[in-house]
Amino acid sequence: MLSGCTPYPEDYAGRYRAKGYWQGLTIPEALARTIRAVPDKIALVEGDIRITYAELGTRVDRLACAFVRQGLAPRDRVVFQLPNSAGLPIVFLALLKAGVIPVMALPAHRATEISHFIDHSGATAYFIADVVRGFDYRDMAAALVPVCPSVKGVYVMGDPGRGQVDLRRLAEIDVEPGEMAAILAARRPDAGEVALMLLSGGTTAIPKMIPRTHDDYAYNFRESARVCGFHRDMVYLAVLPMAHNFTLACPGILGTFSVGGTVVVSPGTAPETVFPLIEREGVTLVSTAVPLVTAWLNSPLVGKHDFSRLKYLMNGGAKLVPELRKRVEERFGCIFMESFGTGEGLLCKTRPGDPEPIRLHSAGQPVSPDDEIRIVDAEGRDVRDGEAGELLARGPYTIRGYYNAPDANRQAFTEDGFYRMGDIVRRVDGYLYVEGRKKDLINRGGEKISCEEVENYILAHPAVQAVCVVAMPDDTYGEKGCAFVITEPGHRLDFEELKNFLIGRNIARFKLPERLELVEEFPISPAGKILRRELRAKIAAMVAAEKGCATAG
Ligand code: AMP
Repeated sequence: MLSGCTPYPEDYAGRYRAKGYWQGLTIPEALARTIRAVPDKIALVEGDIRITYAELGTRVDRLACAFVRQGLAPRDRVVFQLPNSAGLPIVFLALLKAGVIPVMALPAHRATEISHFIDHSGATAYFIADVVRGFDYRDMAAALVPVCPSVKGVYVMGDPGRGQVDLRRLAEIDVEPGEMAAILAARRPDAGEVALMLLSGGTTAIPKMIPRTHDDYAYNFRESARVCGFHRDMVYLAVLPMAHNFTLACPGILGTFSVGGTVVVSPGTAPETVFPLIEREGVTLVSTAVPLVTAWLNSPLVGKHDFSRLKYLMNGGAKLVPELRKRVEERFGCIFMESFGTGEGLLCKTRPGDPEPIRLHSAGQPVSPDDEIRIVDAEGRDVRDGEAGELLARGPYTIRGYYNAPDANRQAFTEDGFYRMGDIVRRVDGYLYVEGRKKDLINRGGEKISCEEVENYILAHPAVQAVCVVAMPDDTYGEKGCAFVITEPGHRLDFEELKNFLIGRNIARFKLPERLELVEEFPISPAGKILRRELRAKIAAMVAAEKGCATAG
């Protein structure tokens, strides 16, 4: 296994194999079964582009060969930052087939985050699109290459910049079938090897990397597809970022491929785009997140499109309140499914056949019979069923450690390998209910923002003496970031100035705090720690009071 990763202990690995969870297949091999079973079925749709399973297989193989010829080596890490498109799964699977490990960045990440991903993973290549929504990724790559010496190549989906490689050209590689088979056989990674690295939606100053093996990730998407009732005739709409764990594999695109269904790529998230696509392509399941659900429910287009084939809407990343879950079922005429999980592993789902109170209120139950759940109090003792406590998880697809992060691992995992999720939950009759969380992050409609990370960016401003970033309630996103700042004596800071300063730090826009509160001091505990909880309560009270005024007015 790649060094810097924590393997599963042999007794656990043996059990997971014996039970058939880990099948000893690489992710591309797991999907090759589908390609053999339904070669002529449509695997991918984007606009007018329709790609059959057979074509998908051929394109992946050719590109994988091209990567080998380009000199990408087994276990090389590459930063993968592609926007949603039919090309994304092809490039992703080709890298896996060549034994190369993609680090799954999101399109929103900017130079500060990308350079960290490159440095921390030692990436030898960087995969981008040309221009997306006015942002030129080629320029960002050109500026990063001189300061990131490990990167030997920049691969572009679209028109490449100078010295960058055109992925379309690579896909035209001329290679004999026999030779191709030999090249790919020689590059087959072990199923216990790291297949990809996801990014943690964590709490530390720097996002950690989550190494997922072929065995565990294939189980992740296969098993979640099974419990969600995925089947060959389903049509999955990919709306959220496809490089994120939820859309990639919970069950997502890979889960859909595993059963021979069709993935439709949505070019946007607005009802004007999504609703006609659901009608035209006969979408049967869409996975989405809190802010989108709210926007879709409030759209005047609801009821103007034929949703008769839409059977399920799945929400993930942050809790959707029961009233909205009910409205989803009523307005869209489909079954609501809640997905509570993490890139580190554990996934819980409500099942299509669950009774209404469970569908509307719970976070579901774990997808694997071998997911081990503990709910513990502050001293680490198991609480009684029905009581709230911190959720710990261990199982056949939950990692045992982050990549090259021994200090973080000591904090995030118990000695016997349970991952500390940081969520406060209750368990009743096997179902989990999310009550809150212990960890310091902002969950902006599913997008996680580390308070510590943003505080560090803000601290670099010369007018800032001290800062504390906390979550504030928001009707659409659930939460947004609010920065409490103590300024240096004689300095001033306003929100616009802070915002422009942070944009200048080249970070993802979604991390920007959306409110600034200047204060004279922070509430401090007897041990000298900032009482974040009090600041959260303070901003929540302010937001509620303002809403009250607005309603009264
Ligand atoms: P990530 O690994 O970035 O997907 O973030 C995982 C975290 O997102 C979990 O530990 C929860 O805090 C939160 N989360 C994900 N799904 C849900 C959900 N359905 N309800 C409540 N919190 C959720």
